[in-house]
This record gives sequence, C-alpha cells and structure tokens, in this order.
Amino acid sequence: MQEIEKSPAWTNLSPGDLSFSFPECAAGDVESALARASVVAASWARTSLAERIDRLREAQRAIAAAKEALASWIALETGKPITEAQGEVGAVIAKFELTIEDADSHLAERTGLGGPHPSLVRQAPRGPAVVIGPFNFPLHLGHGANIAHLLAGNPVIYKPSPLAAHVAAKYGRIMEAAFPGGVFQLVQGGGAEGSALCLDPRIRAICFTGSVPVGRELARKLVGDFSKDLALELGGSNALIVCADADLDEAARAAAEGACLTAGQRCNATSRVIVERSVATSFEKKFIEALAVFDPGDPLLAATKLGPVISAVAVARYEKLLGEMAGDWLQQGRTEPIVAGKRGYWVRPAVILRDGDGAEDMECFVPIVSYFIADDLDHAVRLQSATPFGLTASVFTRSEETFRRLGAELEVGNLYANLPTTFSPSTLPFGGWRNSGNGHPGGRGFIRYTTREQAVQWKGF
Ligand code: NAD
Repeated sequence: MQEIEKSPAWTNLSPGDLSFSFPECAAGDVESALARASVVAASWARTSLAERIDRLREAQRAIAAAKEALASWIALETGKPITEAQGEVGAVIAKFELTIEDADSHLAERTGLGGPHPSLVRQAPRGPAVVIGPFNFPLHLGHGANIAHLLAGNPVIYKPSPLAAHVAAKYGRIMEAAFPGGVFQLVQGGGAEGSALCLDPRIRAICFTGSVPVGRELARKLVGDFSKDLALELGGSNALIVCADADLDEAARAAAEGACLTAGQRCNATSRVIVERSVATSFEKKFIEALAVFDPGDPLLAATKLGPVISAVAVARYEKLLGEMAGDWLQQGRTEPIVAGKRGYWVRPAVILRDGDGAEDMECFVPIVSYFIADDLDHAVRLQSATPFGLTASVFTRSEETFRRLGAELEVGNLYANLPTTFSPSTLPFGGWRNSGNGHPGGRGFIRYTTREQAVQWKGF
C-alpha cells in the first residue's frame, strides 16, 4: 500500500480576534476513510431512495436545530459576518428540499424509448465520492455535493478546508450520526489529504470547490483516469458593467456589496467594475460613497457588514496587490490591525482606476476593485473578457435590448441584469465557464454528476 503523506497538526485563530485560538487540529486517517467507504458502497447503493431521503431529513432536522450555533462558529472561525453566516446555514437547510426534488426526477428510470427490445435507462450510483470544500462557504458548498451524492447512493468523504476545520467538524458530526457508519465521513486535512483522497482508485467521483491552480493540478494528475468523474468549481474575476442608461445609485450599491460581502472572498465577488465613459465620473462618486457602508467590524455583531479576511496570508496578498497594481487609486486601501479593541485581519475596500485591460489571470479574493472606463459597449465586453475566468457578470442597464445584446457576448455561467454579481440563489445551477470550472455546474441540479447512465435491454423473459 502506498504511504500517504500526512499534513502536520495546525491551530486556527479567529480572524476577528487573534487572541482566540481554537484547539489544535490533526489530519484525519485517509486510508481508514477510504476503506470504510468502499465497504459500505454496495449496501448504500442498494438502499431505497425513500430510505436515503429519510436519513437526509434526519440530518436536516439536526442542522436546523443547531442553526444559530453553526452560524456563530462560521463567524468565529472564518470571520464571515454573522448575518452572512446565518444566510449560509439557512441555505444548507434549504438545500435538502431542492436536492430531494432534483433526485426524484433525475433518479427515476426512463422507459418507452423505443428500439427492438424492451428497455430502460437508469441512473446507477457511481461509488465512493470525495467532496473538497473551500474556506469561504465552509458548510454550504461542500454540503450541496455531499447530499446529492448521498441521495444518488454514493458514500461520501468530505474534506473541508483546514481553515474552517472546527465548524466543519460540527457539521460532520451531525451528518455522520444521520447515516449508517461509513456512509458519510469527514476527514480533516490540507492538500496532502485532499490529493490522496482524490487520486485513490477506490474513489469514483470528485467535487472540488477551490482555486484554479489547485483544481488545475488535480485535473492534471487525473488525466487518463476515466473511472472518476471530476467536477471543478473554481475561481472568478467577475465584472459589473455599468451602461450609460443605468440606475447609477442601484449599480453603485450592487458593486459595493459585490466587492465587500465576505470581505471580497467570494468566487462571485465583484472585482472588476466597467463603466461607460459618459457616466464614469458620476458613477465613481456614488460607488465610493456606497463603499463607506462597509466599515470593518466584529463578525459576531449583527451590524457588521465587513468582517476580516481569513488569514495573515490573505492580508499579505492584499498588501502585495496594493503595492503592485498599476493605475490611479480612487480609494486607497489599508489594513486595520485593530478594530473595536481586537486584533484581527481587517482590510479596507480599495478601488483602482486601471491602465489597460488588467488581463491578469489570478483572482484577487480581497476587497480590491479594478475600475475600468469603457469607450462603448463593445469595449466593455472586451474588458470583461480580458481575464480567463467566466463565473459571473452583471450588466446595469434600463434597456432589455442592451442586456440581451451584451448577454449574448459575455462568456459566463451566471449572467445578471441589475443585480449584484454575488446574487446566486440555490434554486438555480451555479458554475463557471472558461477557467472557472469544467462544465459541471454545482448549485441546483448537481445530482446529474453523481450517477452513471446505463442503458438496459432484455429479451427472453
Ligand atoms: P484552495 O484551492 O486553497 O483550497 C480548496 C480546498 O482544496 C481546501 O480544502 C484545500 O485543503 C484543498 N486542497 C489543497 N490542495 C489540494 C490538492 N492538491 N488536492 C486536493 N485538494 C487540495 O481554495 P480556498 O482558499 O479554500 O477557497 C477559495 C477558492 O475557492 C477561491 O479560488 C474561490 O474562487 C473558490 N471558490 C469557488 C466557488 C465556485 O462555486 N466556483 C465557490 C467558492 C469558492
């Protein structure tokens, strides 16, 4: 058996109060999780859909009962403001209904398709699945894939972000208790554990949500292994386009919200604002005013709109970007090492009027907005397309015709008119085009990637 590298133990600090340190975390046992998942795979696959739904409903009730506690842990461990954290847990609870609804239709056998013999098409479970989660939605994003796989009859090993290990452990204990042993398992760890889990031949499906470089590395290592389905939910560099006819106040509020929710650490965050030249000066003023609402605060307080970023590494990346980005700063950024008497990882929103098209291929993932002035709408589309990402884009215009025209040219998986780039309800699919994903949209309908389709024909009975 190949020796599995193990991540060293680690300690998380609360990003909004660095004097609060969580108990030390140790990486989980990858081999034992893989072995248990393979042992239970056949029996879980045989369990009826009704029984799987019952197990899920039990988990749903337990999560609903722990809603407030889970939200507080998200806020404490990741720095996400408590109102956003409550929204995340609410989405986790709502996801059960949506996924059960999707499973009912997706998992149903199809008959009556014609051909010389009786036949049917069925959706067979794939086998053990690994779900890898990011830190910024430590429960919601892994959860969607977890429950879709469980409903399809696949045992799940969930490896959350090490940066959210404690809140993930609380979720994991609830989920583990609702299913027969080994059907849902949480394994703590970092890249070493994630990689070992994904590459193991016993794993038949992977849902990875995280950064482009890690997703790309995973895809490279799995080239030629057709036994696994790989779903990649990756990063973005999302643009909000302000047309000359837009409601500038609405657009300014949406751009500020898109840039600052979760302190800019959302895959669908607004990191590029593209404004038609004729309204660029008036919009700039309104945008800077709208950003003033996002004042750094304690993530555990309901009034806080801007929490800290996740880590010292994120603060260092913010400082590096402030030093390196070329252009004129319309709003200077700065770190706030102490807020309300607590040491933490706060950074203030910053806006830079960019030279050129800012065609960088990295996410900034902090609240820094690149501001571009477009000569016309064709130029706006070119600026939006200058990065290799294709997750979300929003067009602010009063003209449906303009929206439709631009919409046809914007290569993104999630397109909005007059809404923030972060507006992603669970009722819809959510996935990226271009380098933001590999064509396996998460969100609504992820169940499609949890099964293998089998065409069955028979004769003689
Ligand atoms: P990350 O890529 O650093 O880590 C994500 C997860 O991958 C973590 O659990 C990490 O431990 C694990 N990992 C690291 N190396 C690995 C490897 N070699 N093999 C397998 N797993 C490995 O991302 P992050 O900083 O936790 O999260 C932020 C990123 O996630 C951003 O890029 C953001 O855009 C992206 N994201 C995308 C979506 C989406 O739906 N498209 C949603 C949320 C976040």
